[in-house]
Amino acid sequence: MRTRYRLRLAVNAVNGSTLTGAGVALLGRARLARAPDGLWLATGYRLPVPPAPAFCVGNVIVTRLADIPAGSALLRHEARHATQFAWCGGVVMIPLYLAAAGWSWAVTGDFGSRNVFERRAGLADGGYTDKPPRPAIRRLIVRTPERADTGTSRT
Ligand SMILES: [Zn+2]
Repeated sequence: MRTRYRLRLAVNAVNGSTLTGAGVALLGRARLARAPDGLWLATGYRLPVPPAPAFCVGNVIVTRLADIPAGSALLRHEARHATQFAWCGGVVMIPLYLAAAGWSWAVTGDFGSRNVFERRAGLADGGYTDKPPRPAIRRLIVRTPERADTGTSRT
């Protein structure tokens, strides 16, 4: 295992986020198995919340699916979230993530598109698309060009 993954494993063990992820997986009656790079994969998650097909808490990737293949884009995406948990210091990432999702929704009407955590984890790998800002937001940030020639001359 690469040093950075060993470090992520240790940091997320110490900050309690991996233990929290294992608890979430058990609450959702998911089956835990080892995954590459010090991760755990919890398959068959049964709770309705969160609605995402896969999510990550600490080094535990939780999914409703029967499997997420090693090397898949979705696994890479979720693994980046595991690294984000380490950088954020653990479960404090959850309120930060929710705030970022709220910001994204306010700007675009989509929880992932302008969410800094999803963008850094790879929008496309996570099944997200880059949505434009809402029309009202666009009107605020896009200036109309000044009219160069109004037909009158002011000096
Ligand atoms: Zn994601």
